[in-house]
Amino acid sequence: MIVMKFGGTSVQDAQAIDRVAAIVRERLHEQPVVVVSALAKITDQLLAMAAAAGAGDRKKALELSQAARERHYSCATDLLGNDLLGKQAFAQIAAELEADFNGLDELLRGVVAVGELTARTTDTISGFGEKVSSKIAAAAFCQRNIEAAHVDSRKCIVTDSNFGKAVPQFEETDARLKETVKPLLDRKRVPVMGGFIASTPQGIPTTLGRGGSDFSAAIIGAGLNAGRIEIWTDVDGMMTTDPNLCPDAKRIKNISFEEAAELAYFGAKVLHPATLLPAIQKNIPVLILNSRNPKNEGTRITATAPKSKNIFKAIAAKKRITVVDVVATRMLMAHGFLKSIFEVFANHRCPVDMVSTSEVSVSVTVDSNESIAAIAADLAKLADVKYEGRKAIVCLVGENIKTMPGIAAKVFSAIPDANIHMISQGASEINISFVIDEDAVPDVVSRLHRTFFSQVDPEVFA
Ligand code: ADP
Ligand code: ASP
Ligand code: MG
Repeated sequence: MIVMKFGGTSVQDAQAIDRVAAIVRERLHEQPVVVVSALAKITDQLLAMAAAAGAGDRKKALELSQAARERHYSCATDLLGNDLLGKQAFAQIAAELEADFNGLDELLRGVVAVGELTARTTDTISGFGEKVSSKIAAAAFCQRNIEAAHVDSRKCIVTDSNFGKAVPQFEETDARLKETVKPLLDRKRVPVMGGFIASTPQGIPTTLGRGGSDFSAAIIGAGLNAGRIEIWTDVDGMMTTDPNLCPDAKRIKNISFEEAAELAYFGAKVLHPATLLPAIQKNIPVLILNSRNPKNEGTRITATAPKSKNIFKAIAAKKRITVVDVVATRMLMAHGFLKSIFEVFANHRCPVDMVSTSEVSVSVTVDSNESIAAIAADLAKLADVKYEGRKAIVCLVGENIKTMPGIAAKVFSAIPDANIHMISQGASEINISFVIDEDAVPDVVSRLHRTFFSQVDPEVFA
């Protein structure tokens, strides 16, 4: 079997879902499980509804919900058509959508009434998009004579209760996938599931973090021992950098798990950073493909990739970074000092990306988040602290770094006047990364891209 995951833009409207059905049809002989995201932008809108309700703005919350409701209805109408069979199929899905959206409105009113939006309720609301998009996609497939069966991901993917970014419990998840999804495959059905959503063992809805449908696809693929995991999106594959930043970015034909994981972690949004973990464990190839250009070969991510003549495979940039500087004038980095600093970040459940130290100071980068002030207050008990947001990590990745001397000189001479706040090389041996001001990202990335990718090795890039 294989897993085919379609992102938000790939299911944004009836036309897009129609294209998806055609793509799935081509793969029926491979026994696909289909995973879909919410319709494009819906998750943002759901979070806006939740925030409005939490702030007591009932009118805004319900208006946004009404707009989402209409968009889903019209998508379903367009998909299912106006003939007799289409009308029957629509009546069925319309009844489900009505019940689901009524439930959403009830929840939003409840949030307004209690005057508080909890992380738990946020997850129930933000996952609503996948709950309904998967039902619409399944109905559309059936209408097109693909024997699809909707599967509630919240009954299969089990996580802890870390709302907003829940961690999967693989053993229980795998058991449930084998129990619910496998029998459908055995009966030649096409299971259609929502990405991103899961629940605790007690059945409380959770989500896997923004962009988490990719991760869902990998969890399902690993659980069912897929031969391949396909991530269908709106670009031709993993590119040498974000094509929005550099329109001349080239497609990477083959890349290793390790390289792709570094790129995803450091901002290549095309893949959720956790996606490759389950794939690596089971050695399942991951493909990135374009649902608007399905004939393109895309990018193949596997354990090993062919060597490239270019030094790097790609450049990623991760914005919304805060740099925290801790200066310990008195302690002069006494032993145990670093431990106490990292304990503060751990206590706030705040992951640290990059670290650099001197005799008296430590600088770390974290994703900008609402806990920074509290973290700084705790750090201030140990040393002098300052922090600054609106920074970005730029990261160049490629396995050639391991063996080539003089790489750092090549990188920094391409951007001689850039204001660099931190540098790191060596941790993974395949990346060199540094911190700059967020505003400088477009300029720095384009200059690096021009330097390292004006000419590309045709064996590896296209
Ligand atoms: P989906 O909704 O299909 O999950 P995403 O928006 O999450 O799609 O990811 C696709 C987007 O990732 C692309 O449109 C592109 O702008 C962005 N992106 C960032 N870095 C890269 C990269 N190196 N290669 C390809 N796309 C990238
Ligand atoms: N719909 C979710 C989001 O926008 C998950 C996803 O699309 O991967 O974050
Ligand atoms: Mg995505």
